[in-house]
Amino acid sequence: MNTENYKALLQEINQTGASLVAVSKTKPVESILELYNLGQRIFGENKVQELATKHGLLPADIEWHLIGHLQTNKVKQAAPLVSMIHSVDSLKLLVEINKQAERNNRVINCLLQIFIADEETKFGLSEQELKELLQSEEFEGMKNIRICGLMGMATNTDDEEKIGAEFEGLQKLFGVVKEQYFKGNDYFKELSIGMSSDYKIALKHGATLVRLGSVIFGER
Ligand SMILES: *Cc1c(COP(=O)(O)O)cnc(C)c1O
Repeated sequence: MNTENYKALLQEINQTGASLVAVSKTKPVESILELYNLGQRIFGENKVQELATKHGLLPADIEWHLIGHLQTNKVKQAAPLVSMIHSVDSLKLLVEINKQAERNNRVINCLLQIFIADEETKFGLSEQELKELLQSEEFEGMKNIRICGLMGMATNTDDEEKIGAEFEGLQKLFGVVKEQYFKGNDYFKELSIGMSSDYKIALKHGATLVRLGSVIFGER
């Protein structure tokens, strides 16, 4: 990791008002500490076990964001450790997060992951599923989760117009959902879009959190 590159990148991101989630999956604790010492506090991991191990070895004021697909049976281990879960893609998962958060006497920040790509391999709720979730009685009763916004992953392509259109669609949906379900709710404000290959496009479409790995830490 190159210090000057990191600083330039951070400035580019912060200029738009967005924040950087440094995606440290597969990277050693030494690399994380190096970035921590430059002031970085938000780190993203996609596996609960790896997050737990690193959590135990690194400073307590790191905010750990879980960004990868989360299985219901892993929530118990994640619940005391995470400051935000980006990848909530079902009501069932949210029910479990709420339950485990309650057991830990805390409220867990969550983003609802929306499917915006045209690939079968990516997870996420459809707009219809999102509405059903938000209108469900179960959701209404949850006291230990806080929905902070939406997350999405664009199609893995060189076609910047296509990526831009996907991000724009999610930005619009964010506005509609805010208006219909979270009006006046100060917590619902995050749009987690953009990875190393497409973060510049994401910043143009309202990203408040960009999740960057390889552009900071090098290729995995
Ligand atoms: C790995 C990962 C990233 C970061 O990917 P890079 O291309 O290395 O920036 C972002 N979001 C999710 C969900 C990931 O799993």
